Amino acid sequence: MKLVTEKTQTEFSRVAVSQSNLMGMLLARDHYSIKHFNHNIKKNGLPENAHRFRIFVSEAAHFSIQKSASILGLGEQSVVKIKTDRSFKMNSILLEDAIQKEIENGNIPIAVVATAGTTDFGNIDPLTNISAIAKKYNMWFHVDAAYGCALLLTEKYRHLIKGIEDADSVTVDYHKSFFQPVSSSGFLVKDRNYFALITHYADYLNPKDHDENEIPNQVNKSIQTTRRFDALKLWFTLRIIGKKGLGNYIERIIYTAREAANLLENDSHFELLNRSDISALVFRYSANPFKTFDLSRINTYIKSQLYKNGNALVAGTKVNGQFYLKFTILNPLTTVEDIKSILITIKKLGNEYIEVN
Ligand SMILES: *Cc1c(COP(=O)(O)O)cnc(C)c1O
Repeated sequence: MKLVTEKTQTEFSRVAVSQSNLMGMLLARDHYSIKHFNHNIKKNGLPENAHRFRIFVSEAAHFSIQKSASILGLGEQSVVKIKTDRSFKMNSILLEDAIQKEIENGNIPIAVVATAGTTDFGNIDPLTNISAIAKKYNMWFHVDAAYGCALLLTEKYRHLIKGIEDADSVTVDYHKSFFQPVSSSGFLVKDRNYFALITHYADYLNPKDHDENEIPNQVNKSIQTTRRFDALKLWFTLRIIGKKGLGNYIERIIYTAREAANLLENDSHFELLNRSDISALVFRYSANPFKTFDLSRINTYIKSQLYKNGNALVAGTKVNGQFYLKFTILNPLTTVEDIKSILITIKKLGNEYIEVN
């Protein structure tokens, strides 16, 4: 599958992005059930063994996968989380171990979700390995490329998401990395026939004969009915800026993120948790040579002071129960100088906390 449609079978749908992951899981569930149990969930509801269905994701995957599993009646219990390696990417050896263990326990692996650009670290799971494992066990292969999809715009970095073309379904999010205002997202499937699993006809809106005459209708391809024309802004961007221009923006944010990572690594006041495949860096202020301070508290203080003083809005996240600061660089106009000046402010606030405590 390519983002630029080559095979006539590839199909595309415009949706809100957490909904894309929901649709991926919905198609995975219904497709598996028809193919392996000859059971049509759309018509007949969940089969008896549905509580045994299992979906595999990395522990760094987006929470919308669990949310989708609950909505789909499989429960959060159906989601098996695979540990990540040191770069916060799914460990594919542990993935295969986990699949085998679930099979031994009488459970039914139906889908594996790889993340191409995790929300916190911007890292990409080993797509080719994961795809081979999905194939071996007859599972649906979904790629959540909400963040990483835009790497396809650059010649320099598109190799990083090699393997995405094998996916049965893909989530893309134009408001994450195609520089679009909220919301603008898409959902792609390898085989357009998959959409039949979720098509419901209404005579007043999308009668069946429209389909037969190939009149396009988004309603047939998503769980949403009425929607805004979210594709219009993307269309304008593509027409006016074009693939090359957008690709240059992506290369720029990756460059800025790498420079920011160098700054953090070479400054003993900071601890950087990851190098990013894209542009998300998790780090904390940690200067503290003599006394042990609660670093989560210091960094929470720094974040709230930045917000209060109106200097900068820096994101935060937790890793292993510890609070960290986070840069997700998505604006090509952000310069390395901007990052430097924010880091100076962060250092000042951190030092200030240590002095008064
Ligand atoms: C942001 C994100 C989503 C969900 O996107 P929304 O636009 O918030 O619905 C899904 N997956 C990943 C990896 C994301 O980063």
